[in-house]
Amino acid sequence: MADLDRLPTTLLDLLANTLVLRQLSPYIPSKSLLALSATCKDIQDIIISQSEPWRHLDLTGITSAMIDSSPIDSGGISWRAERMDEALTEDDFYSGPLRGIFGRLHQQRLLRNVRTLVLDGLSVPADIVREIVSEDRYNVRILSIRESKHLNQTKLQQVLRYITRPTRAEGTPKLKALYFFGPRNTVRANSGQQYGLPLSGRHGVLGSEGAQIGAEWNRRSSSTLQTYISDDESRWYGSTGRVMKRPLSDWPETLHACRDLVAFDAVLCRGIRHNITKVSSESFLQPAIATVALGRGCEVCSRSPEGPSIFGTTPSHTLPLLSPVPLHSSTLRAAQISHPTGTRPPHLYARCEDCLRGRWCERCNRWWCEDCYDDPVSKLHLRTEMQQLELREQLEREEITGPSWGTSATTSSVKVYSKLCVEHCLVSEMMSGAGSNGMWG
Ligand SMILES: [Zn+2]
Ligand SMILES: [Zn+2]
Ligand SMILES: [Zn+2]
Repeated sequence: MADLDRLPTTLLDLLANTLVLRQLSPYIPSKSLLALSATCKDIQDIIISQSEPWRHLDLTGITSAMIDSSPIDSGGISWRAERMDEALTEDDFYSGPLRGIFGRLHQQRLLRNVRTLVLDGLSVPADIVREIVSEDRYNVRILSIRESKHLNQTKLQQVLRYITRPTRAEGTPKLKALYFFGPRNTVRANSGQQYGLPLSGRHGVLGSEGAQIGAEWNRRSSSTLQTYISDDESRWYGSTGRVMKRPLSDWPETLHACRDLVAFDAVLCRGIRHNITKVSSESFLQPAIATVALGRGCEVCSRSPEGPSIFGTTPSHTLPLLSPVPLHSSTLRAAQISHPTGTRPPHLYARCEDCLRGRWCERCNRWWCEDCYDDPVSKLHLRTEMQQLELREQLEREEITGPSWGTSATTSSVKVYSKLCVEHCLVSEMMSGAGSNGMWG
């Protein structure tokens, strides 16, 4: 017995430990998992029979998942012509590689174990998404299709509205989180979820990466969790300004239809002007996606009329999914959790540009809420042309006569003009422009 005790730990011992398996398997490419399972019967039993190794499936970078869109392949045969027949639709064509992979995984009874599926940058027609989110053989909870190709957004929205329709079957949709809006390959600079591994560390594992994980565990146990904050977390919760650049005007209704069922890496603006019960019909704004991260409350009251979004307090539809896609868990919680930097959970202040017009400084990100500031500038469009001219002249006179206006937080004087705050940024802009016929010349 004493000799047995001294035997070194084998790979089999490690993989048989569920905790180790859970931590390791997201770093092992699916191809390597299959290769590993071919090495011995015991390992095969673990890899094929247990769900954990297939829970997180990342197909980005897998050659067979990609489509070679060049017309002539290296053998000089037209790839496209070879695979095209008259019955094949364009969607079928671009779905081919993924369908092939999913078919093989299904045959091996592995597909049902996939809970997190990452298809960023691949050819993912909406038909494939429809299959993943509605067919019984899939159990995907978190799907990532950022920067996917050949994905028709209108069709994708139809799929999402279909799976969240009021008459849907109980227990559906299985999908809880969809990464779609953000850029792919965001790396957590000092991440607790990726354990500081470079992206290349996902390929070929069990060597140095295993050692890195061990070292990282030691580091983590000796330091507090707050030592890491993801890039994406600080992007949303920090004073970032514009966080989203893509045109999103046709998405708000779909996000609204999916609320509390499927979460996204985007949220609807919660500004009070979108709430018809709180504002007059002339102030009402259509639903919009929040594209500006303010980082803090209003300059005067330090809050906002709608209040901040807070993980664990406000509903899940008020919180964006954070990147990267969580590796070791496939829950919505893992995808949305934000980490306290002090004693309190971080507060998220994010709004659309429409309801920040005239009350947000693009340069320093200061802003004034509807309760504290009734800005005259953004109401220009409600006035007659004559009134607009008068107001403009008045504003310009005030700019010339000086910095006395806008300096007190309690006055109703103009806070933001020409997208800059009067007190800080506009004054410095005017100073730098003085004498050079700058923006005020
Ligand atoms: Zn305020
Ligand atoms: Zn808004
Ligand atoms: Zn400013």
